Amino acid sequence: MNKFDVVIIGSGLGGLECGAILSKEGYNVCVLEKNSLIGGCLQTYKRKGYGIDTGIHYVGSLEEGQFINQSFKYFGIMDKLSIKKLDEDCFDQIHYSGSTYNYAMGKENFIETLSTSFPSEREGLARYVQKLEAVGQSVSIDTLKQGKLTDGGFDYFFTSAAGLIADCTTDSKLQNVLASTSLLYNGLKGKSSFYEHGMVMQSYLEGAYRFVDGSGQVADALAGQIERNGGVVLSDSEVTRIVVQNDAIVGVELLSDERIDCDYVISSIHPQSTLKILDKNRSIRKVYASRINDLENSYGIFSVHLLMKEKSYDYLNRNIYIHRDKEVWYDKRTDAHELRNCLVSMQATSQDPQYANVISILAPMYMREVEKWSNTLPERRGASYLDFKVEKAAQLLDLVKDYGYDFDANIKDIHTTTPLSFRDYTGTVDGSAFGIVKDFNNPLATLISPRTKLKGLLFTGQNVNVHGALGVTITSLFSCAELLGQDYLTKKIGNV
Ligand SMILES: Cc1cc2nc3c(=O)[nH]c(=O)nc-3n(C[C@H](O)[C@H](O)[C@H](O)COP(=O)(O)OP(=O)(O)OC[C@H]3O[C@@H](n4cnc5c(N)ncnc54)[C@H](O)[C@@H]3O)c2cc1C
Repeated sequence: MNKFDVVIIGSGLGGLECGAILSKEGYNVCVLEKNSLIGGCLQTYKRKGYGIDTGIHYVGSLEEGQFINQSFKYFGIMDKLSIKKLDEDCFDQIHYSGSTYNYAMGKENFIETLSTSFPSEREGLARYVQKLEAVGQSVSIDTLKQGKLTDGGFDYFFTSAAGLIADCTTDSKLQNVLASTSLLYNGLKGKSSFYEHGMVMQSYLEGAYRFVDGSGQVADALAGQIERNGGVVLSDSEVTRIVVQNDAIVGVELLSDERIDCDYVISSIHPQSTLKILDKNRSIRKVYASRINDLENSYGIFSVHLLMKEKSYDYLNRNIYIHRDKEVWYDKRTDAHELRNCLVSMQATSQDPQYANVISILAPMYMREVEKWSNTLPERRGASYLDFKVEKAAQLLDLVKDYGYDFDANIKDIHTTTPLSFRDYTGTVDGSAFGIVKDFNNPLATLISPRTKLKGLLFTGQNVNVHGALGVTITSLFSCAELLGQDYLTKKIGNV
């Protein structure tokens, strides 16, 4: 059949969640993915027999009674997932300024644990956790039951993350320790909002989990559910044109020249990419298109995935953040070649839970560092690119070694990716990791509504609202509420 109610472009978390919701609610849905494997950043791909997670290393809000858990139950996938809670007393370990600090789960535990290092800052820590809760509680099961997606919290889009942390404590060391996960949200001191910081931190504080054997299981479970609901998920189906007639969406065209008719298109790809393939129309004004096209994108990530020798290195059930400099926030002006901070995250398999199978080391990297290879194709970028990656990986391995993590003797092979890999694989603009940069100085200019002026066109995914598993899930609900009504959808999810 070549006619659907809704075509969804992209099978990342955002696209698949929208597919799961709308197919469950009776819409005839088709999800189109350009790659042969579905999942986008959710995907777990194979290299030399090892499963490598593309872009989800740990997720919060999966505890019973929390937002993602409740949404996944509504999708019908929660009981199909294999998850592992990170260590409650240390889900993230921070190396900063010669010491290590542990983030513990739970409000009291978090305050208590950091108070051992900052005994005079207990009140400041309590103030900080209260602010996190204010952001976190803006999305809750109670709010859903009341027929609303969010309740408050919007003010924190207008609030500087670094500024609010500084209001909670004057101790600059503690300020940096509290901002240590900023590489997960394009941490720019002059731009990052407390909303992004709060969503990330609060969801992990409530319960941080890994997906055992990889996050790809979420993509598979969602796709399975869409198919059981009568929907279709097609891989190798790149959308090259969104067809508009009489100022309304009528379908899409694929690279294969196939045409699929539909009443609605939900685009989970970058809005800039969406506008590139959208037919000219009178509803999307030039001024809107210019605003979207002028938006800045986050930095990309250089990922070093260490494929470990069997049973050779103990699995650590926590993440490690390493900060070499006094300032943990990222500075765009910093010499591009300097590696200042990174995240180390381990994955064990269900067969061998005691040992690290893959160790991923992630560090921010701007596109400008790989610009000279930007006209090349994957696997054909030439020897200089391979040398660059080898050199960069060696620098990262040296950095982590300085902090006591010497993996050298245990590595079987190394696989690396750069922002160019993300640009060419998930189609993200500028190889950006987290999409459009949200700026607390002018949030309204950087936040994009899921609804557009063009009849039948909606946006979803990490570029709308906030990125990450929680941000994307909230946005999927916002996008689908445009068709189903917010009161109906939220009560249905809240009362599962
Ligand atoms: C390295 C890295 C680490 C991260 N770590 C975490 C983490 O630990 N926890 C967390 O919560 N978040 C993390 N994130 C963020 C998180 O992965 C993303 O915010 C989220 O997965 C984005 O989902 P999405 O659906 O918006 O986009 P994507 O996953 O990018 O999906 C978009 C999909 O659209 C497809 N596509 C593009 N163009 C077309 C086209 N023309 N036609 C058809 N299909 C197309 C792409 O191939 C892709 O599958 C990380 C991100 C990165 C990059």
